[in-house]
This record gives sequence, structure tokens and C-alpha cells, in this order.
Amino acid sequence: MAEKKVGTANYWRYSSDILGVFRLVPEGASKFPSYKAGQYMALQRNDCRLTKKIVRDGGKIEYPNVLDAQGNPKRGAVTHSYSIASAPFETEEKGYLEFYVILEIDEKGLKGRLTESMFRMSPEGDNKMVYYEKIAGDFTLDKRAAGFKNVILVGTGTGLAPFISMAKQLDFEARSGASNSVKYTLLHTNRTYEELDYYQDLLDIEASQRFDFVYVPSVSRPTQRDWEDPKLGRGRANNVLRYLLGMPLKEEQDVQEMAAKGGDVTKANAVLEKTVKPALPKHLSIETLRDRMDPSTSVVITCGNPWSMEDIKYAAETTGMRFEKEDW
Ligand SMILES: Cc1cc2nc3c(=O)[nH]c(=O)nc-3n(C[C@H](O)[C@H](O)[C@H](O)COP(=O)(O)OP(=O)(O)OC[C@H]3O[C@@H](n4cnc5c(N)ncnc54)[C@H](O)[C@@H]3O)c2cc1C
Repeated sequence: MAEKKVGTANYWRYSSDILGVFRLVPEGASKFPSYKAGQYMALQRNDCRLTKKIVRDGGKIEYPNVLDAQGNPKRGAVTHSYSIASAPFETEEKGYLEFYVILEIDEKGLKGRLTESMFRMSPEGDNKMVYYEKIAGDFTLDKRAAGFKNVILVGTGTGLAPFISMAKQLDFEARSGASNSVKYTLLHTNRTYEELDYYQDLLDIEASQRFDFVYVPSVSRPTQRDWEDPKLGRGRANNVLRYLLGMPLKEEQDVQEMAAKGGDVTKANAVLEKTVKPALPKHLSIETLRDRMDPSTSVVITCGNPWSMEDIKYAAETTGMRFEKEDW
């Protein structure tokens, strides 16, 4: 079992009420173990709402609060894994690990046990976080992308975390003279422009062209501002990928499948009507991007929203591409 240590969060940045980036520095004079971009670490806080699993009649699972003798919700330790968003070279040079976290909120509006506690942290006050001194995981380019000429990374929401680490590290290694002929394309989607964390960092990496990297950011709820931003695309990641691969949108396919079954297409058509149609950033042509997605030499690697990842898997495998994902 890895040793538990207490780190300090010395930096917090919020892009919305539910999205945050924070940096953790290690306990005392210790250093974090070395790692590869794409790996994760287990983090813990000790003042989390505690729940227990209950299986109701009919198999419905619920997680009610654990109560103390006075009937008040009990608090205690909750541990989860988090992908590292900093690049290995940054940790080596500056000592911190960076994490990109979303506040979990369920359908009843109840906040997640650990993230509720994390989102109460601040560098000036409540800034202690327990970490397990072990960095693990095989969601790394050497394990998932070895031998492929085209690597298509698809990050939705905080699923960008492993990919920002990879992009920064590749850029750093290219600056230090290391290079290969692999073409990297990153599709990055969030709901709004404000939630598109690391947007400018990724544009800067793309602009420097120290390695072959194309960045395709998009928002699924575009505002007027976004229509005028030439560097920003529109549409959900799965639909942007489908568009690039010459496939119908997921919602178009749902209508077609419902019609083929002879079912009522009213609801599916209403969903399609509301779907934001994919559009690329203005400086990128569909032909340029398609050239980077030859099925026999490409791997699609994704992390983020499970619904989106399922459809990305379908799109990749239908086209004959290798598919890899990180399950959270
Ligand atoms: C390898 C890996 C990397 C990850 N990286 C990131 C990352 O970079 N950023 C990020 O934001 N997230 C990441 N996650 C997800 C993260 O680990 C947490 O699952 C997430 O933050 C929610 O934690 P929470 O305690 O706030 O929510 P929870 O309270 O755990 O709620 C989440 C779900 O669990 C259910 N639940 C509640 N109580 C229990 C219980 N007692 N037992 C079982 N289920 C229960 C809830 O109903 C809810 O549906 C990663 C996960 C993995 C596996």
C-alpha cells in the first residue's frame, strides 16, 4: 500500500462554479514520484459526507448519508483517483502536481462526497489534501498510441486532463530536440467558452508547431461571442469526430434508426432540431483534418463524458480505427 502524505493546495483557479484547476505541493521537503503524462494519483479529504450503499426492493440502488448517534450526517475520509493535468517536466521543475476537477452534482442536486470538500479548499485557508504517494495508470502514449502515425485525442470536460499533460510534455520534449513524425490532433469540447480550460495554452502550443499538433476546440452551447471567435469550433466532440469521418450526426442516426424500425420519430427529430451542428475553427479545413485520420494508421484515444465516449467508440470502430479510452 502506498504511503499517505499530506500536501498543500497552493493554487486554485475556477472557470465556473463547478470547474476548477488546483496545484498540490508535496509534504515537507519530499518530492512527488516521477510519472508519465496520462497517469493518475489517489487524493483524499477527511471531512467528506459519508454515504452507504442500499439496494431497495426492485434492485434500485441508493446512497443515503451515514448518520451519527444524534442523527447528523457523519463526515470522514473519501478517496478517489484524479488524472494529473500538469506535465512531468513541470513537476520536475516546479514541484507541484496540477489537477482539473469538476464538482460532482447528481440529478437531485446533491454534491459529490470528495469534490464537495475539494471545492471548499482555498490556498489561504483550508488547503490540506491527503495523497497516496504512488502514481499509476496505463493511459499513456507509449501504452495506447505506440506504432500509430496519427493520434487523435478527444477530451470532453475534465477528460482533457491527461491530454493537456501529454500536449505540454510533447511540446517540452520537442523544445529539447526530441521529435518524431507522429501527427497529433486534439478535439477538445466543453459546454461554454469559459469552461474551455487550457484553451490559450493549447492554442499557443499549436501556434509554435514544435511538434505536429492540430488543436480543434469546440463548444456545445455556443453564444454570440463564440460564433465570432475564428479559433473556436462548435458541436459536441462525438459529432465533430463524426463530421470529420463523414458520418451522420448521432442525433441524425437516431432519427434514421427510429424510422427504419417504423417507430415514432417525433421525439428524435425534436432532439435533432436542438443539436448544435458541428463547425470547425475557421483556419482548419475538413480536408486537412481528414488527411490526419487515415483509419489504418490512426488511433482515437478518449477520456471524459461516458455517453460521448461510447459514441466516439462507435464512430472510431465503424471507420475501422483503433479505439482507446480511460474509464473514470
Ligand atoms: C483513473 C481516474 C481518473 C480520474 N480523473 C479525474 C479528473 O481528472 N477530474 C475529475 O473531475 N474526475 C476524475 N475522476 C473521477 C473522480 O475519481 C471521482 O469519481 C469524482 O470526482 C466524483 O467524486 P465525488 O466523491 O465528488 O462523488 P461521489 O460521492 O463518489 O459520487 C459519484 C457517484 O457515486 C455514487 N455514490 C455515492 N456514494 C457512494 C458510495 N458510498 N459507494 C459507491 N458509490 C457512491 C453517487 O450516487 C454518484 O453517482 C477520475 C476517476 C478515475 C477512475
